Amino acid sequence: MNATTALLSLRGVSRTFTTRRALLGRRLDVVHAVNDVSLDIAAGETLGIVGESGSGKSTLGRVALRLIEPDRGTIEFDGRDLLGADGRDLRRERQRMTVIFQDPYTSLDPRWTVERLVGEPLRIAGGTSPADQRDRVVEALRRVGLEPDVLTRRPRGFSGGQRQRIVIARALVTRPKLVFCDEPVSALDVSTRARVLGLLRELQVETGLAYLFVSHDLGVVEAVSDRIAVMYLGSIVEVGGAETVAQRYGHPYTAALVSASPAPDPLDRGAKRRIVLRGDPPSPITPPSGCAFHPRCPLAQPVCAVRKPPLRADPDGHAVACHRTAEDRRLRGADLLDLLRGEPTMNLLTPEGTPT
Ligand code: ADP
Ligand code: MG
Repeated sequence: MNATTALLSLRGVSRTFTTRRALLGRRLDVVHAVNDVSLDIAAGETLGIVGESGSGKSTLGRVALRLIEPDRGTIEFDGRDLLGADGRDLRRERQRMTVIFQDPYTSLDPRWTVERLVGEPLRIAGGTSPADQRDRVVEALRRVGLEPDVLTRRPRGFSGGQRQRIVIARALVTRPKLVFCDEPVSALDVSTRARVLGLLRELQVETGLAYLFVSHDLGVVEAVSDRIAVMYLGSIVEVGGAETVAQRYGHPYTAALVSASPAPDPLDRGAKRRIVLRGDPPSPITPPSGCAFHPRCPLAQPVCAVRKPPLRADPDGHAVACHRTAEDRRLRGADLLDLLRGEPTMNLLTPEGTPT
């Protein structure tokens, strides 16, 4: 996809955070939360971002919407330079790109009525009369399956699923083109989760929205995404069509995520031993040299500690940043998993969690 067809286009985007190590410490730690990320989202598509907690998914989404500023890189939204926008222009762009956060309990002020909660983005934007605002709020509530009789109620008394519907209505009320969904169902129980994901999908079909959909759960991302990007320590290590990444994955880290995600067929679980990555969980404060995954990678060779592998796409758009597997098209999906499971240095767990 080229920049002229993308709705949102990031090039070389990075973001660090500086934190003081101890209360009175002088040392400053630099956290490389997002490191040189380039990606495109087309109108109407869902790009899923998956990775462990701390891999930089939320920071990437926030930077992409310019809720926080990047240190480096360029962002184009709907053909405009987002980083150059200010004042009224920026407020207008903010209507076109909105957010659904994870926790519907903390993201809704308990003192406000549903009408005020859902209508707030319109008030901030200005330019609509109170009567128009109410019509738009009612329309947004209807879209998420809530009747106008909830307008005067407060969040207390709504279930988690209903609260998330209110959050979604608020994200839709300005008729955005892109919604950043940050772990939108992680706080919900399993049956509610399926309903909310179904609702997000329906809304996309009805309105042509694009989603930047972030989750640590590969199964959830696979269920909703057209394309998937896998993040590790602030970098994208694999990206491609959802089915390709979930079934013909080529990065050892993606293979580990796949092996850890519950099999859709419960009968299949006995055959599925999880790959447990060796070594310490990674720290984005001092990211490893070369390929950031190399200290935990069973396939690592000397070059992996020295040179960061590039993310180069096949003609079908599938890209893998790995010195060992990127060039070898045989090392994909189940064949890659077999190779990793055969590595004597690999730690393997049975589905019950006991080491073999
Ligand atoms: P994820 O959403 O994948 O769990 P985040 O984007 O929240 O990851 O965080 C990536 C890294 O950046 C983590 O190490 C996190 O501690 C750090 N980080 C995120 N936000 C801040 C902040 N405001 N100040 C300092 N460090 C931060
Ligand atoms: Mg997060």
